[in-house]
Amino acid sequence: MQWLWGKIRAFVNPPIPAEIEDAFALLSATELQAQSRLLFLGFLLTTPTAALAAAPDASPWVRIVVPAAMAFFCLVGYLNLRRDLRLSVSPRRARRFLREATIASSAIAVMCSAWCVMSWLGAPPEERIYYPIIIALGAFSTAYCVSSARAGAILNIAINLVPMLFLLFTSGYRMDLAVAVSLCVAAGFQLHMIHRTQTNLVNLLSLQQQTRHLSITDPLTGLLNRRALLDNALELGQTRPLRLMLVDIDAFKAINDGHGHDMGDEVLREVAQRLAIQADLRASVARIGGEEFAVLGTADELPEALALALLGDIRTAAMPHGAPVTVSIGIAAGPVHAEDDWLELYRQADRALYEAKQTGRNRAVSHAALPSAEKATPAQAPAARISAA
Ligand code: GH3
Ligand code: MG
Ligand code: MG
Repeated sequence: MQWLWGKIRAFVNPPIPAEIEDAFALLSATELQAQSRLLFLGFLLTTPTAALAAAPDASPWVRIVVPAAMAFFCLVGYLNLRRDLRLSVSPRRARRFLREATIASSAIAVMCSAWCVMSWLGAPPEERIYYPIIIALGAFSTAYCVSSARAGAILNIAINLVPMLFLLFTSGYRMDLAVAVSLCVAAGFQLHMIHRTQTNLVNLLSLQQQTRHLSITDPLTGLLNRRALLDNALELGQTRPLRLMLVDIDAFKAINDGHGHDMGDEVLREVAQRLAIQADLRASVARIGGEEFAVLGTADELPEALALALLGDIRTAAMPHGAPVTVSIGIAAGPVHAEDDWLELYRQADRALYEAKQTGRNRAVSHAALPSAEKATPAQAPAARISAA
């Protein structure tokens, strides 16, 4: 029994992979908003005929109150969904909307189901068969429109059809039995369609996520690539000034020449890992060229002192080829509102890195501390260092 309950729960509400959970909620909620608007409008149009379709001697509840409540519900729902609910920007709001839609569509299903059951029970035998048709069309239209809210769509089918199927199966008429079996088959197809649609969407979003990951990642080290660094800079720089550290491995060519290219790759991975650990969550770390890396963060969260920690950590680390490795670091800070600002920041950090190389390597140089004559072009004067070997 517990096994069956687990299976039902997994079918009604299967887990969505964590990496696409937000994108899935945003897309489902936006889709649901558009579809539900149409659904409310469609139902609103059917409420006058629902009032007419009630058995003549049915109680006023069935003839008037339920159709009127439905009409009111649909009108309020339609007007509410015409507003811009900003579902495509907030995953939290999107999830709440999906939950609310599930509750609302279940409430409508309860009303419709009660209406049909009461009408069936009060109708003369020759008119009864219309009610399963009405409830089936309503249930399938609703399930189609709210299929983005999977639990809502499945609950809708169950609430609408199970009581009516019970009446059909137990009435003792052979035609009722035939209708009941056809309804079960159609419901099965509808559930299958809901499942397939969601599975396809999950697969597509996962693929999109993987493609996006590949497009911003350096395959050798797993760090960000140059393009992702630019995107981060433009996003982060909108609110606060940034600091950029360009980190270049010293004499890396000698490692390749002495130990082979594969060992060179191992060293690149080790350095990348150390940079990522040191930067922690304070900064974006990218590999921007062969043996050149970048550490980028806001000026207040990424102090110049981090460069000293990087120098020391890499210098003392055990490297795969069994010999120490040193790096040189160029540092620059400034506002980045547009791509030109980024190019200027990059140029300054590169200029400082050049000075670090020129003055002996294994050190960090800040562009801000360079004498003004040296800021624009490479010059002979000694660099302003924040650290030396
Ligand atoms: P410097 O101290 O001036 O920076 O000297 P360097 O030897 O580190 O710099 P140089 O630019 O002379 O050499 C960089 C080398 O990095 C040359 C290139 O073959 C190697 N390289 C570039 N990309 C990769 C890579 O993906 N893997 C490996 N193993 N080597 C690479
Ligand atoms: Mg180098
Ligand atoms: Mg280099």
